Amino acid sequence: MTESSVSTAPTALRAFIGWTAWPGLLAICIAITAYGFAVDHPALFFNIAYAFLALCLYTLEQTMPHERVWNENDGQTFANIAHTLTSKGVVQSLVIFSAVIGLTVYITPVNEPGYGIWPRTWPMGGQVVLAVIVAEFGFYWAHRIAHEWPWLWRFHAVHHSVTRLWIVNTGRFHFVDRFKSILIGMAILLALGAPMEVLTWLSAITAYIGMLTHCNVDMRFGPLSWWFNTPELHRWHHSKDLREGNKNYSENIMLWDHVFGTFYNTRDYRPPADIGIQEAMPAGFVEQLVWPFRKR
Ligand SMILES: [Zn+2]
Ligand SMILES: [Zn+2]
Repeated sequence: MTESSVSTAPTALRAFIGWTAWPGLLAICIAITAYGFAVDHPALFFNIAYAFLALCLYTLEQTMPHERVWNENDGQTFANIAHTLTSKGVVQSLVIFSAVIGLTVYITPVNEPGYGIWPRTWPMGGQVVLAVIVAEFGFYWAHRIAHEWPWLWRFHAVHHSVTRLWIVNTGRFHFVDRFKSILIGMAILLALGAPMEVLTWLSAITAYIGMLTHCNVDMRFGPLSWWFNTPELHRWHHSKDLREGNKNYSENIMLWDHVFGTFYNTRDYRPPADIGIQEAMPAGFVEQLVWPFRKR
């Protein structure tokens, strides 16, 4: 082996992984999810796909990071995981609680064929694509008002207070912030009468793209970043400079950012490695939970 082949081989492999990781991993996760629906265990196979994605991205973050400095411990790992679990738990228990207090009269119609104007006769793939587009309108505005309305920003600031991006802060949301986004995004689909299978598909895709979006992996995207919310776009969104940060509000597809003029990307210079917020966020999880409610 010549010296040049020794030095170029890893670079070529890196480039190959860089170009294929984002679409490849998403496609594998979608295939695993489809298999889960086919064998009637969608939740189990969603968890398998999610764990597989986390393992692959964690390995890539360690071996080919986008920002090496983001691999250093910021002391927020416990808070990240605690916010992920509480926001997931609160959203789920509110759904269960709503069954007790009778709110489900508004939710149960999704299981009644004939409810709403949703095109249930379409192939499932078409319904899922439609759901991604329609729900994105809700996700977009839920996210945008979280940046533009100061009292909502306090809750969303918990997500933006991180000083590095990696897969473990994917789910770092104050539970109030997460609940509001899910409610607005899903409410449109519920009102239209989308069936539960479509909502489950949407949740799975949003979870996969969410983790991909936050990963600290040196990837290449080309035109993909025009269509989808990639890490490249989301790194701008985490910038302290609000000319870059108050952009790219979309969760899965960039459609509404294009429509409402908030799409931002350039390859002329790198997104900042020094990310975060102007306010001082307490370091502890419990303090972060009460911080948005504090008077100032
Ligand atoms: Zn944001
Ligand atoms: Zn983020």
